[in-house]
Amino acid sequence: MLDQTSQWYKLQYPECFVNEELRMMQKTLADFVDKEIMPVRDQIDDDVTHEKIVTPILKKLQVGLGYQKNKIPKDFGGNQQLSMVGDALMQEQMSRADYGISLHSACTDWGLVPAALAYLSPSPTGNAWGKAVFSEFAPKFTGKELAVACMNFSEEDSACDVENPMNEGRTVKVRAELKGNEWVVNGNKLWASNAGIADLNCVVCNMDPSKGIDAFTLVYVPEPWPGVSHGEFEVKCGANADRNTPTYFDNVRVPKEWGIQGPEAWAIFTNTVSAPMSLNAANAVGLLQGAFDVLLEYTEGRVAGGKPISKHLHAAMILGEIASFISVARAAILELAYQYDHMDIYGMWNTESMMAKGHAVHAYITRTVPDLVSRGLELMGSFGLVRENGYEKYYRDAVVLKIVLGGSHLGYFEACKQFYDLDYSSFGPGKLKKPA
Ligand SMILES: Cc1cc2nc3c(=O)[nH]c(=O)nc-3n(C[C@H](O)[C@H](O)[C@H](O)COP(=O)(O)OP(=O)(O)OC[C@H]3O[C@@H](n4cnc5c(N)ncnc54)[C@H](O)[C@@H]3O)c2cc1C
Repeated sequence: MLDQTSQWYKLQYPECFVNEELRMMQKTLADFVDKEIMPVRDQIDDDVTHEKIVTPILKKLQVGLGYQKNKIPKDFGGNQQLSMVGDALMQEQMSRADYGISLHSACTDWGLVPAALAYLSPSPTGNAWGKAVFSEFAPKFTGKELAVACMNFSEEDSACDVENPMNEGRTVKVRAELKGNEWVVNGNKLWASNAGIADLNCVVCNMDPSKGIDAFTLVYVPEPWPGVSHGEFEVKCGANADRNTPTYFDNVRVPKEWGIQGPEAWAIFTNTVSAPMSLNAANAVGLLQGAFDVLLEYTEGRVAGGKPISKHLHAAMILGEIASFISVARAAILELAYQYDHMDIYGMWNTESMMAKGHAVHAYITRTVPDLVSRGLELMGSFGLVRENGYEKYYRDAVVLKIVLGGSHLGYFEACKQFYDLDYSSFGPGKLKKPA
């Protein structure tokens, strides 16, 4: 329950970052989460087909509340919700109940972000690409059925290698060729969120890896579509409301207008992979808040050693540390999201300093949260291990948090780069040979 009237709330979400409009959005979603997701959160990971629990929730969230059109520009009937602070607040609320639901929603946004960034940029080429994509596909996302997008860059060899900006797109194995008026796409992607259920994929390709950024390409591919197929859904330890499966592109042909190529495509991609740093960090804080709420209730009610567990000082140390971390992390996330919202002051999302700041906040928070959730489990005894008691889910989901977006290691490498010349490229002596 989010009590926006309390002094604690005001101290956690200060007015300098959270305006009245965002506060209303946050409240609407918090109430939705408490009513629709909280009561069934322990059953979500067992809804294997997604028919019983997951998809009905997604329909209410994405279509009912209109979230699936958040990244569609107003010109195409969308919400054009561009506030990173707003997105961070929403991710936090969703993850308080279920990280997988949050990932689903965020990754529909993510799949549409490249076209939105391009359309809203001053570049005529980007503008034309965004216009072609939204003219064709926006109606699906502004309609009354659930519509899903997917940002597809991870590959079998190493997803980190694709995300690593030092590699300049040279490890991307999915090929795009321009043949007449069509892009022809070949290759495989792995692990993208919403893969296998997406109506629209943004696919990261390279026309010629030896040319790096100059041949880097982004192509939108809808589904179902000739030549696109999938493997089995991955069964993960947690966050199973988020679907992941390989996607195979076999001579997939789409109109030339649906793709963009070269340094502009690279800039869109690097901005797109930087954008979610404050958002996944907000997922981590939401998840920790959810776990903390369970811990508080349980440790106040359960008597051990002659008094409620929460009254023992060893328990207070753990609870106090979690409360402190939530407070510090939330402040860092709101500041970071605010900086993303003010490119005019703080620079583009893909500058070396912004990438370092984004990754520093993200890596530290997502790496610490699983440890704190695990420590909280110590206070719950065997009760904490049982699914219906609502804690073990946070424990399983928390480890997924630190793997996405290049994981915490790549994140810390990027942070170091701000201070010294760390070479973590995939090419060089003892590593890969640069494509000739
Ligand atoms: C739930 C979930 C959702 C996801 N959603 C998406 C999505 O929407 N779209 C998408 O495209 N992908 C998605 N992914 C994939 C995700 O981006 C990758 O899993 C992540 O970036 C890590 O890549 P990897 O699993 O291939 O690990 P690898 O790339 O194999 O990395 C493993 C380890 O290798 C080490 N390493 C990596 N690079 C270096 C280096 N340069 N130097 C030294 N060591 C290094 C690090 O220790 C790293 O932790 C998702 C994954 C998960 C689990």
